[in-house]
Amino acid sequence: TNFSDLGLSTQIVTTLTQQGYETPTPIQAEAIPLVLKGHDLIGLAQTGTGKTAAFGLPIIEMLMKDGKAPQHRSTRTLILAPTRELVNQIAASLKDYVRKTSLKIGLVVGGASINKQQMQLERGVDILVATPGRLLDLIARRAVTLGHVSYLVLDEADQMLDLGFVHDLRKISKMVPANRQTLLFSATMPKAIADLAADFLRNPVKVAV
Ligand code: AMP
Repeated sequence: TNFSDLGLSTQIVTTLTQQGYETPTPIQAEAIPLVLKGHDLIGLAQTGTGKTAAFGLPIIEMLMKDGKAPQHRSTRTLILAPTRELVNQIAASLKDYVRKTSLKIGLVVGGASINKQQMQLERGVDILVATPGRLLDLIARRAVTLGHVSYLVLDEADQMLDLGFVHDLRKISKMVPANRQTLLFSATMPKAIADLAADFLRNPVKVAV
């Protein structure tokens, strides 16, 4: 299989080729077609398996296809991750993937200037990558609303629970539209994650690598 076979357009495939991506990893081969079809998805996968591209590429493809511009102080995609390091890493990868598009990526983490983050959200973004606590701070300041979120990703969900973010996640889940598409990735699948998935996802397809 190659990336075109998975349903990605030439524009994205060209970008991937230039970055040295030739063959999809197993999680990418399984997840990308399912996400493009609109399924909610639970991905059991560790870091290093290529999971960022597994959720990032089909979302970028769908955002490009529907061609809408982001509304001011809003985002079309929300990606939640447990730590600053992971948020930075996800945003850096996504920035590489959108290089040839006009899509805008925002980054929101604790320990950095909240005013700068507020300014970055003023005109809206297509994809916002965030840690849950700082995101809620920005929502409280009315710097961003989640009413236009079509795609929600929970990355390293087990880590987010371990770090005590479950309450924040539940708050955030009440602010995103019910008819969004949701993708959850976790390295492990304890009961707490299964419960979270049951609340956040609709008829999810499971993929494990
Ligand atoms: P991740 O598991 O998302 O953190 O990705 C791990 C590393 O693999 C990152 O440095 C990616 O840039 C790289 N990567 C992801 N998918 C591919 C691919 N299909 N071919 C080559 N490298 C990849």
